[in-house]
Amino acid sequence: MKSICMLDCLRIRRDGKTLRVSFMRWLMVLLLCGAACTGLAAPPVAAQPAPAAGQQASPAPAGPQQAYTLPPDKLAKAIALSRIRNILDGAGSLWGIAVLWLLLATRAAARLEAWTQRVTSLCWVQGLLFFAAFFLITALAGLPLDMYGHYAERSYQISVQSWAGWFADVIKSLALTVAVGTPLLLLFNWIVRGWPRRYWFVAWVATLPIMVVLVFGAPLIGPIFDKFEPLALHHAALVQQLEKVVARTGINIPPERMYLMKASAKTNGPNAYVTGLGATKRFVMWDTVTDRMPDDEVVFVFGHESGHYVLHHLPKGIALSAAGLFFVYWGCSTFAAGLVRRYGARWGAAGLASRTGFVALLLALSVAGFLLEPVSNAVSRHFEHQADVYGQEAIHGIVPDPQKTAVAAFNDLGKAWLDDPHPSPFIELWLYNHPSTQHRAEFAQHYDPWANGGHGKFFPR
Ligand SMILES: [Zn+2]
Repeated sequence: MKSICMLDCLRIRRDGKTLRVSFMRWLMVLLLCGAACTGLAAPPVAAQPAPAAGQQASPAPAGPQQAYTLPPDKLAKAIALSRIRNILDGAGSLWGIAVLWLLLATRAAARLEAWTQRVTSLCWVQGLLFFAAFFLITALAGLPLDMYGHYAERSYQISVQSWAGWFADVIKSLALTVAVGTPLLLLFNWIVRGWPRRYWFVAWVATLPIMVVLVFGAPLIGPIFDKFEPLALHHAALVQQLEKVVARTGINIPPERMYLMKASAKTNGPNAYVTGLGATKRFVMWDTVTDRMPDDEVVFVFGHESGHYVLHHLPKGIALSAAGLFFVYWGCSTFAAGLVRRYGARWGAAGLASRTGFVALLLALSVAGFLLEPVSNAVSRHFEHQADVYGQEAIHGIVPDPQKTAVAAFNDLGKAWLDDPHPSPFIELWLYNHPSTQHRAEFAQHYDPWANGGHGKFFPR
């Protein structure tokens, strides 16, 4: 769920806009591969929920002083908003699965397939029409939840984006999803036809280069939704500070690879991320960070993102996704075959290789994506924690008090996004792709490896 990718994202909610349909998450696995924070189908602004009447803030648990705290008025809002975000997140996943089931059970998918066959005799054009319509229908089905999410974010003054601007982003997202996703689904559908027995393995092999290409090309997507400028153009002094971190970490991020994103046109939330691969690798800082957080904290944010770089979280994310997808594809092929055997006649699906049968395969992938969410989020939280540690170590000797700076940064982030200081452990386990702000701040507060002459985990000095 939420994330502010403090590095690759300070914070990032991956459930944005049209992505509510679970199947789209599978596409997102391909598109984003784990740790990447940019969104092909979703603009980076968090899509989130709205205020419900009558929600009361429950008192914070008593105990030792909290590392992340909110004043009472913000605490009440954070609890209410978090509840809405969590409900929308869970409901979005289940609704996405339900939509695919309904497409099959009402025979809408079968009718769509028959329509494409009437329109043209060209098999590949039939496929393009079918899958483009499929994306359109699933996006429309998810629109009410997405709209409610935007309404909520606006109500809580997280989002400042107008409805017109928001709809423009939704349309751009959908256009991109159709442009990229339609040929991809056509390709996978063709693989199922060509290798009816071992298609899952062939599809997996095909997925690997596609993942790499999509991550490589991900930085091209950002400018479609937001304005990017060289960071040094607006914050020359800050870039000099960041260069100190670059020197300490030894990473290769020249100033030309540091960008400033004009996020304040759409949101009050601060964020930063790394994206791309090889020649397209870059660091992006939102102007809501540079303009609203003290320089020391910005340097820490940069340290966190540097950690993602240095610790190779993007390639590792790709490798782990690839390994996971091997088993997911295999399991889903068995599951989908069972579905079509049992319900195929009722759904009008003439085998898995038909367009309608392929939707059953996408349904299986959606179910798997939902059930495996805690696993992928656990991996993501691990990476994020590593990056937090790295960030705090990277700014040692550059800012006067790394512990204090990191704790202050998490408080500023949490306050700006209205993060719940005490999310339920179950919610954190299932939905959070970053550790909760409280956990991050608590760790930072106590992390001092230099005490008694020691040194950090990632830095020998
Ligand atoms: Zn991060």
